[in-house]
Parts: sequence; C-alpha cells; structure tokens
Amino acid sequence: MPSLNKSKKILIVGAGFAGATIARILAENGYKIDVIDKRDHIAGNAYDYEHESGITVHKYGPHIFHTSNEKVINFLSKFTEWTPYEHKVKAKLADGNLVTLPPNKETSKILGKENIIDILFRPYTKKMWGLDIEELDPSIIKRIPIRDDLNELYFPSDSFQNMPKMGYTTLIKNMIDHDAISISLETPFNKLMESKYEKVFNSMPIDEYYDYEFGELPYRSIRFHNELVKEQSVYPVSQVNFTDDSIYTRVVEWKNFPNHGKNDDETLLTFEEPCSYKENNMERYYPVKDIQGNNRKLYERYTKIDNNKNIFIGRCGLYVYVDMHQAISSSMATANKFVKEN
Ligand SMILES: Cc1cc2nc3c(=O)[nH]c(=O)nc-3n(C[C@H](O)[C@H](O)[C@H](O)COP(=O)(O)OP(=O)(O)OC[C@H]3O[C@@H](n4cnc5c(N)ncnc54)[C@H](O)[C@@H]3O)c2cc1C
Repeated sequence: MPSLNKSKKILIVGAGFAGATIARILAENGYKIDVIDKRDHIAGNAYDYEHESGITVHKYGPHIFHTSNEKVINFLSKFTEWTPYEHKVKAKLADGNLVTLPPNKETSKILGKENIIDILFRPYTKKMWGLDIEELDPSIIKRIPIRDDLNELYFPSDSFQNMPKMGYTTLIKNMIDHDAISISLETPFNKLMESKYEKVFNSMPIDEYYDYEFGELPYRSIRFHNELVKEQSVYPVSQVNFTDDSIYTRVVEWKNFPNHGKNDDETLLTFEEPCSYKENNMERYYPVKDIQGNNRKLYERYTKIDNNKNIFIGRCGLYVYVDMHQAISSSMATANKFVKEN
C-alpha cells in the first residue's frame, strides 16, 4: 500500500471530542494537523465555562462522563485528572414530590408500575422529541430500564464515573496541545479548503456537506434558559426532570456537580426547552430515530456517495447519538485504522 505523504497536512473539521481524539492520535504518529471549528470555542458540545456567578456551566447541556471502556479511560487520563461523580436524577411529580429516575423499586411503589410510562415518560417524550412514544424507535425507551432494587444511580453499571477535574474545555485543550496541531476558531468549513489537504476528518453534518442533495437529516435541539436564584440550593440532585405539560423537560442545578464553582448566596439553574434544530439557529443536538428508520436510510444514502477525501466522524458526521466515551472510542478506532493503512 502506498504510504501517505506526511508532508501534506490533515484537516480536521470540528474541535469536539471526535475531532480532538483524531487530531491527537495522528499528531503523535507524525502527521501535521489543522483543526478548524466554526464556533468561537473548542470542545464542541461538551464546552464548559465559568458563568458570571462563579458557577461552572456546560453551555450545551450537562455532560456526565461514564464508561467501562478501559482504552478510553487510559487515553483521556493522559490529559486530565478526575473527580468522582455518580449521577442521580429525580422526576418532579404533580404534587411537587421527587422520585428516582430511572424508576427503581421505590418509584414503582409510589407511582404503581403500570403508571410509570404514562407519568414519567409520555409527556417527557412528547416534549423532547415532538412525537408520541409509539412513533419513536423503541431503543430510545429501552435505554431507560425499570429496576427492581433501590439503586438510585442513573448509570448503575458503568465502572468509571468521574468528571474531568478542570472541566471538559481544559481536557480538550490539553488533547490538542501538541506542536503538530494548529487550531483556527470561527472558521467554517469550505470545500475549497480540501485541495490543500491529504485527507479531511469531518464532523460537520453529512447532509450539509452534500448541500442536502437527498434531503435534510432532522435533529432535535434545546433552548437553554438560565436563572440565577438567590438561594443556597434548590434541589438535592443536579438534574430534575419534569412530568408536567410545561415547555421544559428538565432543570439542571450546576452547583450539585463537583468542582462547579463556589457561590454561597446564589445557585444557577438551567431549564431546558426542546425544539426542532430549525427553531434554534440550526443547533443540531439529537439525531431523530423514527420508528420506520427513514432518517437512518437517508443518512445511508449520503454514505454511499464516492468521496475519497473526507472521512466523516462524530455525532453529526455519522448521524448517531453518541455519548462522549463512544465518540472517543469510535474516533480512536478511525484514527488507528488510518495510521495503520497509511
Ligand atoms: C444536550 C446534550 C447533552 C449531552 N449529555 C451527555 C452526557 O451527559 N454524557 C455523554 O457522555 N455525552 C453527552 N452528550 C453527547 C456529547 O455531546 C457527544 O458525545 C459529543 O459532543 C460528540 O462529540 P463530536 O465531536 O462528535 O460532536 P460535537 O461536540 O458536536 O463537535 C462537533 C464540532 O464541529 C463543529 N462544526 C460543525 N460543523 C462545522 C463546520 N461546517 N465548520 C467547522 N466546524 C464545524 C461544531 O461547531 C462542533 O464544535 C450530550 C449531547 C447533547 C446534545
């Protein structure tokens, strides 16, 4: 196999976990890398920053790191120390009481097992996806098991549950801090860039790359509403889901995450209002899994287009919801395969 001309650079579109993982692995293997991102910050949707209240906020929704994948843990641990954090979620009932999510034995006792779907999931699903439960791919509901014990953890089976000690933005900054990597922010991808590069690893939406030739791949999005409250603390956990018909699906109380800033007089809450990505400045968050699989079929048509310059990566390049550890794991595999073959 002819070896790739390493003097010609690699372009990586997107400085999220997918792009940063590939950039790091290729840089360590002798390639020169340019990373571009259209936003004014690195870290993609995992971006966190300090709010004026002194409290740390994840701009695009709370990111909880959990995995059992040793390769991912070892890779990331080169760039961060960790703070233990096990995620717990409550659902707020009509009477104001909180019950554990995913439903455990106590939740079933309070609500009645037969009412769990209607109370905890039906209104939430309608708000989150704009669809009735019956219209969704069943795998989405299956991701939320009903337990027969008193365990309160949201991710009971993952062996590694920690937050990066200095936050996600610092973690990704450390990943791309390498002499062979240069980064340009506020730089949207443009096809004219391709000729300068040997290969492009591209985390932009695949349908956008192809100018929506076969149609658009739909996404759900979220509008985030921050509220600084003059109370030391409001909720016992960092995430509370709503079961009512209001516009919000859930609220996040940032101070309940470890190392998320100090403010003894106030607490910052973020309410989440789901919407279509078109109603939110084309901010694509969750690929929509319809029960007929039409969106997936549309995505697959795009993957069949001949393209020997671009390798699509990440959540929007592959049109799949991935947790951070999955985005990293699949990007590690893509980068290692590329190194092996070139
Ligand atoms: C609301 C929400 C909550 C989540 N919570 C969790 C959680 O708790 N735990 C967990 O493990 N995972 C969570 N995730 C998933 C996590 O965000 C993804 O796994 C991760 O962001 C995937 O990284 P990525 O690099 O594929 O995509 P992204 O992080 O989206 O990065 C892609 C980057 O590409 C850039 N880009 C796109 N198009 C262009 C273009 N044309 N030109 C230049 N740059 C471009 C974007 O600006 C972006 O910075 C959550 C996701 C969402 C949406």
